[in-house]
Amino acid sequence: MKIKILSLTAICVAIASLTACTTSSTGRNQITLFSKSELSKMGATSFEQLKQQEKISKDKKTNQYVQCVANAITKNVPQSAHQGEWEVVVFDSEQVNAFALPGGKIGVYTGILKVTENQHQLAAIIGHEVAHVIERHSNERLSSNQLTQIGAMAGDALLTSQGVENKDTWMKVGLGIAQYGVLMPYGRMHESEADIVGQDLMAKSGFQPKAAIALWRNMAKQSKGAPPEFLSTHPANQTRIDDLTKHLPKSASLFQAQNSVQCGMGSN
Ligand SMILES: [Zn+2]
Repeated sequence: MKIKILSLTAICVAIASLTACTTSSTGRNQITLFSKSELSKMGATSFEQLKQQEKISKDKKTNQYVQCVANAITKNVPQSAHQGEWEVVVFDSEQVNAFALPGGKIGVYTGILKVTENQHQLAAIIGHEVAHVIERHSNERLSSNQLTQIGAMAGDALLTSQGVENKDTWMKVGLGIAQYGVLMPYGRMHESEADIVGQDLMAKSGFQPKAAIALWRNMAKQSKGAPPEFLSTHPANQTRIDDLTKHLPKSASLFQAQNSVQCGMGSN
C-alpha cells in the first residue's frame, strides 16, 4: 500500500512539473521536457559514437562540397536553435542517409550524394534535417516517450488500486494506443513540419526551393528495389511532394538570390 501511494505521488509531481510548453514556428504547441543543453549533450555524445563507428570520408572535394552547402544553410539557423559553429562530417558509406543533431552536428553519408542531383537537392536534405533541430523534434519525441512511461506507471497504479483483473492485457492495450495515437503521428507531423521549414530555410540560404520537390521524386524512384536507409524514416510519398508543391510560392518568395553560392560537384 505504501509503495502505491509513493508511486502516485511521483506521478503527480511529474505531471505538475509539466510546464515545459513551447510553440513550433508553424504554431504547434509542444511539450519539451528537456533543456537545450541536455539535448546538445545527447547530440554530441551520439555524434562522437558515430564518428568512432563509421568510416569518415577524407575526400577533399566531397568534404568541401558538403561543407559549402551546409555552411550556407546553417548561417540562417536562428540563434535560439544553435549558437556557434556547426560540425559537419561526411561518412564514407553507401548508405543513403543524412542527419542533423542538437548541439550543431550534421552527418552526410556519401551514398546520399548519389541520389541528390545537384547542390540544391543536397540543400533540401540538409535544410530538412536542420529543420528537425530548429523545431526541437527530438526533444518532443523524448518527452513523449517519457510521458508514455509516466502514463504506463499511472495506469498500472490505477488498475492495481482498482483490483482490475487481466491488468497486463489492459496495460498492453494502453501502451498500444500511446504508440499509435501519440508517437507515430508525431513522426508524420514532424516530417511535414521539417519539409516546410526546411524548404523556407534553403530558399533563404540561396538554394532553389523547387529542388526539394525534385529530390523527393528521386527518392520515390529509389524506393523501388532495395529502399535506402533514409526512406525508413522519411517515406517519399505523394502527400509530401504535394505539400512541398503547395508551399513552393511561399518559400520561393523567401529566395535570396544574393545568398546564392556555387559549391561545385554538379552545382547547377
Ligand atoms: Zn525528417
